[in-house]
Parts: sequence; C-alpha cells; structure tokens
Amino acid sequence: MKIFRTGRRAHKAGPRTRASEAIDLLAPIVGRDAIICDPVELATYECDGLTHFRVRPALAVLAGSSHDVEAVVGTCARLELPFVARGAGTGLSGGAVPDSEGVLLVTSRMRAVLSVQAHNQRAVVEPGVTNLEVSKAALPHGLFYAPDPSSQQVCSIGGNVAENSGGAHCLKYGFTTNHVTELEVVTPDGATVKLGGMVGETPGYDLVGAFVGSEGTLGVATKVTVRLLRLPAAVQTVLAAFSDTDSAGRAVSAIIAAGLVPAAIEMMDALAISAAEKAVQCGYPKGAGAVLIVELDGPLAEVEESLLDVNHHCLEQGAFEMRLAVDDADRARIWRGRKSAFAAMGHLSSSYIVQDGVVPRTALPEVLKDIAKLSEETGIRVANVFHAGDGNLHPLVLFDERVPGEAARAEQLSTQILDLCIAHGGSITGEHGVGLDKLTAMSKMFSEDDLVTMQLLKAAFDPHRICNPGKAVPTPRLCGEPPRPRRGTQPLQEQGLAELF
Ligand SMILES: Cc1cc2nc3c(=O)[nH]c(=O)nc-3n(C[C@H](O)[C@H](O)[C@H](O)COP(=O)(O)OP(=O)(O)OC[C@H]3O[C@@H](n4cnc5c(N)ncnc54)[C@H](O)[C@@H]3O)c2cc1C
Repeated sequence: MKIFRTGRRAHKAGPRTRASEAIDLLAPIVGRDAIICDPVELATYECDGLTHFRVRPALAVLAGSSHDVEAVVGTCARLELPFVARGAGTGLSGGAVPDSEGVLLVTSRMRAVLSVQAHNQRAVVEPGVTNLEVSKAALPHGLFYAPDPSSQQVCSIGGNVAENSGGAHCLKYGFTTNHVTELEVVTPDGATVKLGGMVGETPGYDLVGAFVGSEGTLGVATKVTVRLLRLPAAVQTVLAAFSDTDSAGRAVSAIIAAGLVPAAIEMMDALAISAAEKAVQCGYPKGAGAVLIVELDGPLAEVEESLLDVNHHCLEQGAFEMRLAVDDADRARIWRGRKSAFAAMGHLSSSYIVQDGVVPRTALPEVLKDIAKLSEETGIRVANVFHAGDGNLHPLVLFDERVPGEAARAEQLSTQILDLCIAHGGSITGEHGVGLDKLTAMSKMFSEDDLVTMQLLKAAFDPHRICNPGKAVPTPRLCGEPPRPRRGTQPLQEQGLAELF
C-alpha cells in the first residue's frame, strides 16, 4: 500500500453536477432502479441507529455485487465525490451517516452466503448478509459464528467488520477481529484487493487487523471470510441474584480471578430489571438489586465443574438466589430479560441515551457507585445493563425531552460517564465505535501524536479523503479543543510522503 499525498483536490464541477454525472455513469452498470435520488426516498437513509445525526445524501446506490461496488467507488474517485458504505444502518455512533454531497453505498442486496467450508471451518459471505444468517448457514455442519451482537438478527457482517462488533459471548470467544481471516476490499481509488487469507496468519503487516474496526473509513468490504467454531457439547446458564451491584461486581472479579472463562457474564441493575419485567415479565428473583447471567459452554465435564465454581463464587460474594436453567426454553426465558432491556426502557422513560464505555473489570464496583452518585446529583436516572465480564458498560441515561433542560443534563451526564471510564484506564467505546458521536472524546483518550498516526494510516488508504470522511478519527479541526502547537513533524511529512489534514 502506498502512502499518497493527502488532501482533496479542487474539482471544477460543483457537487450537484458531479452527483448527476455519477448517476449518468453508473446507471448503465448498476441499473437505474438501483439508484435512488428522490429526496423523499432518500429520507430512509439519513441516519443510522443514532437518530439525532441526520444528513440526506445526494444519491444512494443499492449495490448488487462486488462489481457494482467497484464501479461506484471508482466513479466517486474519478469525480472526487465522497462516499459512505451502509449495511443495515443499526450502528449506534453515526458511522453510516451520509455526506450531503456524496453517494451512500448500500450493501443490503449483497446477501449471499458464498460458501460454508465445514472441513476448513470457514464461511465466505457477502457484506450484506446478517450476522445471524452466518450461524444459520453453519448450523447443519455443527458449526457457529461466535460474535453475537444483540442486533444480530438485522445487522450486517460488513457493518460488524467495520465496527469490530462484539456481543455477550465475546468474553470467551473474542470480537469480530478474532474471527475474520480474509477480506476482499474495494479501496477508495476503486481497486479490488485481498487482505489476509484463508489461514489464520499471513506474513507482512496485519491489514485485516487494520481494516476491522476502521469504521468504513479505509474502503468497502465486498467479501468476508470468517472463522466458524464447533458447537459446544454442553451449555449451562445460571441466573444469580444479588442485593446490589457492588456484590455482583465483586462476584464477576472473583469468577475471572479464579481462572474461569464463562462464555458470557452479563449484569443488570435494579432499574434495568424493573424495565425488563414490565416489558417481558422475565420473572427474575424479587428484591434483586442486581442480577448476573453467567453462561458456561464446552465439554460436559468441564461445564459441570465450572458451574460448581461459579455457584461458589457468587454465593461467597452474597448472591441470595442461584437459578439454573433446566432446559433450552428456560435458558431463553433468562436471556429474554437481558435481550429486551434496551427496548424495555420505553416503559420507564420517553427518551434515553445508550452510552458505551469500558473499564477494567476490577473497577466495576467503584465506577457503578460513581455513576449512581452522578445520577443522584443530577436527578437523571441511569439504568445499567452490560457485558460485565469484559467491563463493557452500557449505561442507559433516561430523560424526558419535554422537561426544559433535561436532555442537556442527560447529555452532560453521559459525557461524565465516559470521563469516568477514561479516568479508570478504560475506553470511550467497547463496541459501538466512534463514528460522528465520539469524535471529540478521542482527544481525551489519545495524544495528538496518536491521532496524527491514525490519520497517516487513513491517508495511506484514502489520500483524497472521500471514504466516509470525518468519521472515527478527528481531524485537528474536529478535536473540540483549542489548536495547540504541534511537537515536531512526522517522519513521513519530512520525507514529503504525507501531509497532515
Ligand atoms: C438494538 C441494538 C443492539 C445492538 N447491540 C450491539 C451489540 O451487542 N454489540 C455491538 O457491537 N453492536 C451492537 N449494536 C450496534 C450495531 O448493530 C453494530 O455496530 C453493527 O455492527 C452495525 O452493523 P450495520 O450493518 O447495521 O452497519 P451500519 O450501521 O450500516 O454501518 C456501520 C459502519 O459500518 C460501515 N460499513 C457498513 N458496511 C460496510 C462495508 N461493507 N465495508 C466497510 N464499511 C462498512 C459504515 O460506513 C458505518 O461506518 C446494536 C445496535 C442496536 C440498534
């Protein structure tokens, strides 16, 4: 991959003219019915799951094949039009928000599972295939695809790759990055390249690693090869009820410290439990200030032994009830409360912010106490439901926009929670990504040199900044801080190979 000089060149034609030119060039290739430019129809594509960022693109193209993607990106490169890839639009950080002058490249028609190679434990899929469809295709072979975001019924593998998505079972199995071995990518100059390979490790720089989690800013994935795992022989799920989050948090630390690696450890606090009860009557133990859902999987003997250990640690930390799922239906009942928790917030509040931050597991009790304190001080309620094993918090900040000033206070509280995560050595996002939403928070977590290095990587793939511009990594203009003098220059700048932007 070359490092190019960066910065957009001035193009003679205006953006609207270039968009019309793009339609004329693309219609014979992708078909006129695959191009949307009617403003009313384009309204569908204005935002992702984070609905307060809305931008209408100049046009949207529903790509049907890698060849279509290559044509769209190549045309954008030629006309210097910005483009943004979109999978299912369930992202929660504004990553798929279009550029008003550019093309939104939608992959939802690219839904083929191209092959399931049972002997190799691999599947090759198009980017618009939903996460759950991969596991469904693997099931007849006794295999499954491990990363399981809660949105798995609808979110696309292309979106999962871009966001490095996680889920409840990533504690044991790892995130998307641990399960993608090869990518076919259309780079922002319109060329198709292969990154990685069928085998797990390839020599040279880990470009698959760089691409996974790059939030659609380095190119468009058109084929994804994922690792499949053998279905576990046994699964046991236990619900542990505690009087408060403190003791539940200590139980999480004790389980991990004992060397146990459950497939999942999820926590819900009292407010999250009450919302879930209202929504789906999950029947969690009465009086619980917090519950843990601990799932163990693997060979039967190992699962049975680990289950005894989990019971021991939970009881030792004060669990007042341990409920073991007796069959699959019972297991589904336990999970139903957790899986419905976000949507259930509608029973408690007209609006809420889903925050996503990470803290070291051992800091969980302290951080949860600090969040409760902030909630008390501001009068804004916060429900906690999260991947406790990974320390990946999802505080749900509840507010009523009809109450003057409450939305602003909720926003401020949500930012303070991220500040807490950083102060404890954690991260501003665990799985939802930076997108547009957390651009200003990046400069709280990374030094200016870190951010410049990230921009240099972006420039190596996308020298003209047309691929999902202005997302994931702030340009100095977007850091939300007063400009400071730079310390020194980057070696690549000194050699005239790259410029900062
Ligand atoms: C109810 C709910 C629950 C959720 N739970 C989880 C969860 O448990 N874990 C989790 O990690 N996330 C979760 N999410 C967030 C979201 O579902 C994930 O980020 C998901 O990976 C987004 O996929 P998508 O297809 O909707 O992508 P989109 O929202 O369409 O796009 C997301 C990003 O991917 C880029 N992109 C899309 N396709 C491609 C491609 N082919 N090549 C390159 N870039 C591309 C876009 O440009 C954008 O930057 C949840 C969302 C909702 C609404």
